[in-house]
Amino acid sequence: MTEQTGDDAASEAPRYPDLMERIVNLAKRRGFIFPSAEIYGGFRSTYDYGPLGVLMLRNVKEAWWRSMVQLRDDVVGIDAAILSSPKIWEASGHLDNFTDPLVDCRNCHERWRADKIDGTCPSCGSADLTEPRAFNLMFKTFAGPVEEDATVAYLRPETAQGMFVNFLNVLTTTRKKPPFGIAQVGKSFRNEITPQNFVFRTREFEQMEMEYFVPPDEADKWFHYWLDERMRWYLDLGIPASRLRLRHHDTDELSHYSTATADVEFLFPWGWDELEGIANRTDFDLKAHAAHSGEKLEYFEQSTGERYVPYVIEPAAGATRTMMAFLLSAYDEDEVGGERRAVLHLDPRLAPYQVAVLPLSKKDELMPLARQVLGLLQPVAVCDFDTTQSIGRRYRRQDEVGTPYCVTVDFDSLEDGAVTVRDRDTTEQVRVPIDRIAEQIAGRLRR
Ligand code: ATP
Repeated sequence: MTEQTGDDAASEAPRYPDLMERIVNLAKRRGFIFPSAEIYGGFRSTYDYGPLGVLMLRNVKEAWWRSMVQLRDDVVGIDAAILSSPKIWEASGHLDNFTDPLVDCRNCHERWRADKIDGTCPSCGSADLTEPRAFNLMFKTFAGPVEEDATVAYLRPETAQGMFVNFLNVLTTTRKKPPFGIAQVGKSFRNEITPQNFVFRTREFEQMEMEYFVPPDEADKWFHYWLDERMRWYLDLGIPASRLRLRHHDTDELSHYSTATADVEFLFPWGWDELEGIANRTDFDLKAHAAHSGEKLEYFEQSTGERYVPYVIEPAAGATRTMMAFLLSAYDEDEVGGERRAVLHLDPRLAPYQVAVLPLSKKDELMPLARQVLGLLQPVAVCDFDTTQSIGRRYRRQDEVGTPYCVTVDFDSLEDGAVTVRDRDTTEQVRVPIDRIAEQIAGRLRR
């Protein structure tokens, strides 16, 4: 069952058939995302975030944190260890169940995730595949110098368990009462059988997850509340409604711990695919950790003497995957002054640079004033300072990486104490006095 937020997506033909290629190229060429260890020929679908990528990824995570933690009084954050005890994964069920069905092609010996192919090898086309077998996706390692069973540790495959094992710590230190949430942003690791589609599916990635603990009889209400909240977040940051939908899982698709799950899906160049899963995880996780640890993981309401194990509603999103969706939906080409330009219409909250300060010429006379303008803007916005090439070229370069505003310092600035502010989307230019530039830009960015 799917709920479309906008027009029927089938009516929206892809604007650029080679959009994926363009984004991968742009990401590399402009310093968003590089293939990892490239000087050694790359390293199996791992990626490094470059100067612009690190800024944008931080903005994605910051926008999530702001909406999920900062603007609420019922959600607190944590940052749990990545290297984790096998006891956590035994209790959570990951040691037994966190598997994907693996098949081998008997012809070319490639390995595939059985549920992602249609019975034939995508590499050589052979239908001679082995029976699927369960392949555990967790990265196993050893903590300390001795490699033995007692030192086994795992890199976390999700951030969620950090919230469950710290449930009591958070409850006692913050005195929160259900409904309340614990949020976390950080790296997770899964030994994916077939990483693919650029940063859509990688073995190392970043998640943004929140566990919202509620009285059991309110779980359904909060599940729907979080579906709405999370859809709103993507729309507010610029994903078009026609490329976003909610897909409710059928009963046979639900995880063993969930009574209801819906995915937020984005229309990627290869079709609809998941950005985030929102699940009613019931009291499965707290009960499992209580049983394995012997600790009472419950909430005691002093005023009524009531004791219960909260249910959990979990919105679980991927930061790296979501950044890719923002890049894909922001990309456009148009014509400005008879010249074609590529432009990223990124929301200013997500754009790597919010402002570029551009002295019209590299001549000595303009530099001190340009640097002074940069100094006024740096406290209110993430700024680039570019002095190379013609001003037209520099505007194009900023458009292509999504910088919402360019501030140009020209020779008139020396006379009238004003600069030109150019808007990325409209390309409109207005003159602003230098002593009001910081306030003006801050105002435009605040929205
Ligand atoms: P899939 O079915 O695609 O393997 P999942 O349903 O197992 O994913 P969850 O466990 O619900 O994913 O993880 C929550 C979110 O974390 C996903 O919606 C996705 O955005 C992100 N995520 C999960 N695995 C990866 C990965 N290998 N690479 C990048 N992001 C990922």
